[in-house]
Amino acid sequence: MKIAALIVAAGRGSRAGPGAPKQYRDLAGEPVLRRTLRAFSTHPSIDAVLTVIHADDHAAFDDAVAGLAGLLPPVTGGDTRQASVLFGLEALEDHAPDAVLIHDAARPFVSARLIDDTIRALETHRGVMPGLPVADTLRHAHNGLAGDAVSREGLWRAQTPQGFHFPSILAAHREARRDGNTSYTDDVAVGAAAGIKVSVVPGDDDNFKITSAEDLMRATRLLAGASEYRTGQGFDVHRFGPGDHVMLCGVKVPHSHGLLGHSDADAGLHAITDAILGAIAQGDIGKHFPPSDPQWKGASSDVFLAHAARLAREAGAEVTHVDLTLICEKPKIGPHAEAMRERISDILQIGPERVSVKATTTEGLGFTGRGEGIAAQAAATLRFR
Ligand code: MG
Repeated sequence: MKIAALIVAAGRGSRAGPGAPKQYRDLAGEPVLRRTLRAFSTHPSIDAVLTVIHADDHAAFDDAVAGLAGLLPPVTGGDTRQASVLFGLEALEDHAPDAVLIHDAARPFVSARLIDDTIRALETHRGVMPGLPVADTLRHAHNGLAGDAVSREGLWRAQTPQGFHFPSILAAHREARRDGNTSYTDDVAVGAAAGIKVSVVPGDDDNFKITSAEDLMRATRLLAGASEYRTGQGFDVHRFGPGDHVMLCGVKVPHSHGLLGHSDADAGLHAITDAILGAIAQGDIGKHFPPSDPQWKGASSDVFLAHAARLAREAGAEVTHVDLTLICEKPKIGPHAEAMRERISDILQIGPERVSVKATTTEGLGFTGRGEGIAAQAAATLRFR
């Protein structure tokens, strides 16, 4: 089955207080919408991700998704959610998906499990809705006074993604438009009106919709307790050559030799760069800055490290710690270690207490022992939000 995701982000909802629409609000360093889109763009069963946005939000959208791969260009929505969904479905028609998952942009915590369950249910039903049974007692209330209780039997809270066979839901939306029915609040209502039977799969409490300032706080608390940590490691060597100093960790250290390399040959910064790239699984320094590219000849290596740090931020991660070991007999590293820590923390924009620089010799053994070059190895710890 070819499956598309349609993310509805055209709303202007003002319940989250003043400021940008809630789907563009910052949530622990990343826009809500970016988190939502990544849940689908990185899911192995999703073939296309299309976003419907407000006409005023094209710049905000571009900002929010910068660097995120696997997204179709956004389409502009209509006056109502229902109209926006139809525009999105029509834009997906060229891609001819078998099924579509229609999801609220303001539900960033949709899990891979929920996406899987929704897709699986589409093998036996033309429509699927994740839902949660209502647990609280429901009552009428008037003028601040509690009234009669309402039976909650058979009542479910509808969530998204709501999944449908693509031709069925497209036809249902066109039918609703033709008949002038514009008051449906979700796609299950549109589908049901056209006779689509919608199966219910278990929803997820964390998959709540961010509509108020309180919801944003809840989302922030949820993320604080749900970080993923990853460690990357890097290793680099440069050979001594003619010169009167070496560049190590962005610090000029006087020496009887220089280091040979295409760039400034800063083995320390190269090892840290590779460690960060490793933690976000984005290859190595040579992939991002090919030695064959003349623009990096003699380059100051802080450029490479700053780039890796930027990629990490774009991947939703922050560098929480770096530990570097420089391996050489000479020059002596100790007198420069503090300056190196400060330089690294400047480039990474993290506190120096999060940066460790150590040095060792190899007791005269091997190429470092013979004074032929310098080796560096690094570990970087990244927290993913
Ligand atoms: Mg190198």
